[in-house]
Amino acid sequence: MRISFAEIPPEGISRDITDVSWFPAHEVNRRGPLTATVFLQRKGARVLVEGSIAVTFQFDCDRCLGRFEMPSELDFKLDVELADPDGMGREHTCSHGEMDTMFVDEPIIDVHGILQQQVLLSIPEKKLCAEECRGLCMRCGADLNQGACGCGRQEKITPFSVLKDLAKS
Ligand SMILES: [Zn+2]
Ligand SMILES: [Zn+2]
Repeated sequence: MRISFAEIPPEGISRDITDVSWFPAHEVNRRGPLTATVFLQRKGARVLVEGSIAVTFQFDCDRCLGRFEMPSELDFKLDVELADPDGMGREHTCSHGEMDTMFVDEPIIDVHGILQQQVLLSIPEKKLCAEECRGLCMRCGADLNQGACGCGRQEKITPFSVLKDLAKS
């Protein structure tokens, strides 16, 4: 979905994005409904883009490799400006204080591109099914969230326990 700056009135327009083709499905899995809303407002030569995306991500835990779901509500605010043809800032985003500014080469808002970028930015670097996920046993590979694996128990042979076993026999 591409909207030219000229189509955007100063009072703003809002769009519900029902088409989900923008979602970067090759980068991240999701489950269930995906909804997105954007509000575009013309501010002189710039366009303010505000939006929210509701999505449930599906990740594989970095520690236990178990699949888990993470419902997310992503809110964003972007200031879109036409890049100076001789200037530097082309098609890149930079942060001035609290709001991100995106520079574009033509006076067009690529709504799908912005939604896709916001989703990619929101993917956590560390994906854990739970903060306290115990992961897999380094030795036997058992999922330690399901309880102790048992292989560690055999390792707990101390000189003292050996002596105790000897004393019994
Ligand atoms: Zn886990
Ligand atoms: Zn084990």
